[in-house]
Amino acid sequence: MGGDLRMSIDSRYWDRDFETQPWAWIESWQAQQLATMLETLPQRSELYREILAGAGRRIGLRGYWVSRGRLPTLDMLETVPFTTKDTLRHAQQDTPPGRPLGSQQAVPQEYIVQIVSSAGTTGRPVFCGLTRHDQEIWNDAAANAFWTAGLRPGDVVAHLAGQPPGASGWPFADGMRRLGAAVIWLAGGSPEQLIERLPALRPSAAMTTTAFGVQLAEQGVSGKRAADLGVRKLLAFGEPGLSEPGVRRQITEGWGVSHVRDMMGLAEVMAGMWSECEDTSGMHFSAARYVIVELIDPETADRVPWADGARGEAVYTTFDRDATPVLRYRSADHLEVTGTRCSCGRTSPKVRCLGRAADRLVYKAVTVFPTAIRSVVLRRFGDVLEPHIRIWKETAEQVRFDRPIPLEVEAKNGVDNGRRQLLAEEIGEAVREELRVKVAPVLMPSGTLSRGRDTGALVEVRPTADPDGDGSPADLKQTAGHRG
Ligand SMILES: [Zn+2]
Repeated sequence: MGGDLRMSIDSRYWDRDFETQPWAWIESWQAQQLATMLETLPQRSELYREILAGAGRRIGLRGYWVSRGRLPTLDMLETVPFTTKDTLRHAQQDTPPGRPLGSQQAVPQEYIVQIVSSAGTTGRPVFCGLTRHDQEIWNDAAANAFWTAGLRPGDVVAHLAGQPPGASGWPFADGMRRLGAAVIWLAGGSPEQLIERLPALRPSAAMTTTAFGVQLAEQGVSGKRAADLGVRKLLAFGEPGLSEPGVRRQITEGWGVSHVRDMMGLAEVMAGMWSECEDTSGMHFSAARYVIVELIDPETADRVPWADGARGEAVYTTFDRDATPVLRYRSADHLEVTGTRCSCGRTSPKVRCLGRAADRLVYKAVTVFPTAIRSVVLRRFGDVLEPHIRIWKETAEQVRFDRPIPLEVEAKNGVDNGRRQLLAEEIGEAVREELRVKVAPVLMPSGTLSRGRDTGALVEVRPTADPDGDGSPADLKQTAGHRG
């Protein structure tokens, strides 16, 4: 009962020594771990043997981890090339017998005990392997994240969203159990089943995607609302939503909880890495014992120092990973640093997620995230709109828009016609003014937009009207195919 023991020592932290060390000390310690890892990685990973050999000349010149006379620093990372999702996809293209993870696999197959899938919202998912050791460190880091978010041994957690093979599925459940909480797996059940079954089990906490949390908060089922579940702690993940005050307020009120925390991780790196403490002023990095996080300028790829208000793309290096290590993995998640000190005493930087790669849109060379559009729309018009938007794309791959981005919003019931007519125009202007992109807003009746449960998608692909010319819409065909 590690959790109980730790709680009796200090109930605030999962890993007190580490979480309260000066961040500079942690980065220096990480640099030493990295230097050690880089010496052996090429022997066990075909992928990184090639990547590091390609960079060998530069690395040799800088010689950070071969010159024993000086302590390594994380500056050594500047000589290491980036890894992207495409790098991993390519590495996993050929999977000969014994190598289900292709050239990224850095241990023999018999040591791998679990394979986790990345979210596959754009293109083929990539997979990552876990050895027993990897599983243990994932569990420890996830337990740290859940502890930071306020879960404790004795909590009974309703796990409401997440697919078992993904990071928020099985690995999250393992992390909660590692901490000493009891997990009720209800992800995949219908909202009706949830509301019916949960109260008798008396869950003290719930874990959900932000989108599904909002859906349960506002809709309820068969006359019962989320607040009737008696949940006292709500943890949300999977979408950058809780940093928007409107969304947070809706969950707080709809669930009748004041304890609401945001979390984030990434299957390609580690399931649980970021988590909000009781200060609720951004997510701490809770995986520093196993993962290096850097911030880079997404355009120039220069490293960005951790400073209040700094923005950049998160880049991760796993220096303690057996099966599928990554060096400088470009997450394409865009973060803003909300603080480098905290009242809780943790020293890791705090961030909020501005947007995730899969969601990025480009309107005439200006990058914008759907969450930023939602944020502007709800902040300016939240009194007359429901907190849901939908953006339409023509294809799943579409990133660029040359014409105004199609946007649907929901007017609240009771908003009169005169107001509705003006709204579309005002929303278009507000978005153009703040984000420098054009949208084409359409007002929908309250309750018409879908509330995604596992993806929380704000962007959907518009069903093709009739691609084959045979008179049946493509989306109906697909539905029929699934049923058949
Ligand atoms: Zn804190």
